[in-house]
Amino acid sequence: MCAVKNSANMDISVVIPLYNEAESLPSLYQWLVRVMNENGYTYEILFVDDGSTDSSWEVIENLHSQSPDSVHGIRFRRNYGKSAALYSGFQKALGDVVITMDADLQDSPDEIPELFRMITEDGFDLVSGWKKKRYDNRLTKNLPSKLFNATARRVTGIPLHDMNCGLKAYRNEVVKNIEVFSEMHRYIPYLAKNAGFTRIGEKVVQHRKREFGVSKFGVSRFVNGYLDLMTLWFLNRFGKQPMHFFGMVGSLMFIIGFVAVVVVAAMKLHALANGVKAMLLGTNPYFHIAILMMILGCMLFLAGFLGELIIRNSQSRNDYLISKTL
Ligand code: UDP
Ligand code: MG
Repeated sequence: MCAVKNSANMDISVVIPLYNEAESLPSLYQWLVRVMNENGYTYEILFVDDGSTDSSWEVIENLHSQSPDSVHGIRFRRNYGKSAALYSGFQKALGDVVITMDADLQDSPDEIPELFRMITEDGFDLVSGWKKKRYDNRLTKNLPSKLFNATARRVTGIPLHDMNCGLKAYRNEVVKNIEVFSEMHRYIPYLAKNAGFTRIGEKVVQHRKREFGVSKFGVSRFVNGYLDLMTLWFLNRFGKQPMHFFGMVGSLMFIIGFVAVVVVAAMKLHALANGVKAMLLGTNPYFHIAILMMILGCMLFLAGFLGELIIRNSQSRNDYLISKTL
């Protein structure tokens, strides 16, 4: 990836990932247009239909035929997930500021002018919404979400209260230089930070009850969320030098195992020399534990080597984000 400059002369691209949200789309569209016109923005609205099986795509086609210049749509052949939808929207976005929001009317378009101002005037790379007062189920969403965000804050070092808020604003350059895939949409601020976009802000935003349809994410989001956070942390820390992790842990285990074997063997020899009856090495559990540690240590070391070989062959091993050249 390389740093891409935006030259479309458009203020805002609104990227809306959606999966079976046909009932919400017309009101969302009207609301967005009202906000855009009231503030005199030049804009485009990019609907990314993530393989909906209801009439969402027909609604989008209809809106596009009414306003072919400002409404655009991408339709996936099947459901790939919110990250994939955001990624495809980001690729197409032309506006100086890119706003993402959910399609279910839980995010309010009235927040856009302030988000836009924070990016263009306050100089933020990314501003994330904070649903301070949430209208979701208290037990299955609000509480786990607090815990989740506390962990994410510690691991990522980004002091956001609501990392996974769907309503966010970005400088165009940011969305062109991060790669959201798998289910990494939960950690876009972390992706941005790891790409060198460190001016990350937060704005308290209104949140609303879901009017139509149902939430598309179950409780599994929290398990997956934690695993993804670990992956990102590991990739950021050791992704380019796996040997630093596997080599270190592997060597440590090997050394401990080796020392333990020597000690166990020395004790046996000492006992033999003094004519004391001692346990056979083969029946001594410490001997087996020590050997196991040596073998595991070798395997970890080997995993580090393999990781390094893979990285040396990867296409992107020398891709650096360049912000300026003279
Ligand atoms: N969404 C999507 N693909 C999916 C699941 C969800 O594009 O596979 C969209 C969904 O239509 C909505 C947004 O992502 O616009 C947030 O989803 P949802 O409202 O279900 O999440 P919640 O508000 O419950 O966190
Ligand atoms: Mg929602």
